[in-house]
Amino acid sequence: MESIYSLTLSELKSFLVKKDQSPELAQILFQHLYKNKKTQSISPKTIEILKTQYSFDLPEIETVSKSPDGTIKFLMKLHDGKTVETVLIPFHKRFTVCLSSQVGCAMKCSFCYTGTMGLSRHLKSSEIIGQYVVAASYLAKETGTKPVSPNIVFMGQGEPLHNTEEVLGALDVFMEPMGLGIGPRQITLSTAGYLPGMKKLAKFPQINLALSLHSPFNETRKELIPINQHYPLEDIFEALDNVPLMKRQFITYEYLLIDGLNDRIEDADELKKLLSKRKAIINIIPFNPFPGSQYRRPDSQKVDYFKDLLVERSLRTMVRTTKGSDILAACGQLKSKTV
Ligand code: SF4
Repeated sequence: MESIYSLTLSELKSFLVKKDQSPELAQILFQHLYKNKKTQSISPKTIEILKTQYSFDLPEIETVSKSPDGTIKFLMKLHDGKTVETVLIPFHKRFTVCLSSQVGCAMKCSFCYTGTMGLSRHLKSSEIIGQYVVAASYLAKETGTKPVSPNIVFMGQGEPLHNTEEVLGALDVFMEPMGLGIGPRQITLSTAGYLPGMKKLAKFPQINLALSLHSPFNETRKELIPINQHYPLEDIFEALDNVPLMKRQFITYEYLLIDGLNDRIEDADELKKLLSKRKAIINIIPFNPFPGSQYRRPDSQKVDYFKDLLVERSLRTMVRTTKGSDILAACGQLKSKTV
């Protein structure tokens, strides 16, 4: 049965009209589903009509892991028993929820635990939205208050641009003012550079974009992100250069810093050539090891040294503080136990 969470507000309105119900009820229902508001009730008859067609089920929390740094990782079970991980990351009294877009991932990045799983299936928009609703209501119960809606990053399991239609459907619901009303600047989508999906970016709202760059050299990047063989940096940048950016909008370039691999002066020089004329912020992420990983994390001196190399080359650079690595919830460490 289709999920009620897969419907946009206009789709819900059309359904109600077809069933001789008032379209106004769609807004009330959206507030029930997404804002937990119970100011106006919906008649049992309407609920019955909806329940004959749609499921109200959400992903179930199978396990919760908490890090002393405040990161919370959920293993969520979907209707078919498959599982995905969702992470709540604290940041300055707010939380960001890191959503998965697929069960597993087809991209097979060599630094990523999810990449070792292969792709099991795409998530439906309702399953992407469901992760958010479940994580946000867990947070509300934990804190006993109604926290500000968490920001969203599509950086969990899966390549979001390999599942564009469902991700677009989820964005529509996330940004609906009658529902969650999350602003485009509160949402970041990160891609490994899956070019067929990048060519559809024009269909997306103006959310923040991040590219997993990790090396300015095709040869090294190919080792880290195998799809770079088919979609090299030249083509990726051509696609990115066509993305319209607002005045103060930048594209974030994620740079997983791996000891001895991509932390050399040549890397900094090449990054300068590639990014100095673009609206770019480089986000250095010291590599997070996972069981069986072949790479080493650089020590903090090496991280600082590489950051200084970039700053000297006038590149906007920051270092991402690693959160949740003790519970395998940091970047590249997600892997559901059962798929
Ligand atoms: S880094 Fe992202 S795109 Fe690459 S394998 Fe992991 S989940 Fe997939």
